[in-house]
Amino acid sequence: MEYGLLIHFEWCTGCHACEVACRNEHDFPIGKYGIKLTEQGPWQYGKNDWEWDYVPITTNLCDMCKDRIDAGEKPACVHHCMAEVMDFGTKEEILKKSAELKGKCMVLFNNK
Ligand code: SF4
Ligand code: SF4
Repeated sequence: MEYGLLIHFEWCTGCHACEVACRNEHDFPIGKYGIKLTEQGPWQYGKNDWEWDYVPITTNLCDMCKDRIDAGEKPACVHHCMAEVMDFGTKEEILKKSAELKGKCMVLFNNK
């Protein structure tokens, strides 16, 4: 089964909880990440229009929390995102949800 993450980053607060949850779950050393928060902006592109987003992006160390999924739990990053920016599901579920969302979002799949 192929799983994916849906990240509705328009509502991301930049709190870093997903990074910390992932590191704690996998015991990654300082400086290595399964998911890393990036920041876009701030920069202005119109009179009243600004680009300023926090965007969490998975790395090659993300295993889609295989052990947690096998145990029937959500991935650590999804579980700890209090802003409910992140969602998890099968490829079909994630693509369906992303098509229904308004605002900025992205889908990430792990094909390993
Ligand atoms: S799914 Fe698991 S391994 Fe991947 S970024 Fe989230 S917490 Fe880390
Ligand atoms: S835990 Fe949620 S709100 Fe916080 S940085 Fe990660 S995606 Fe954004």
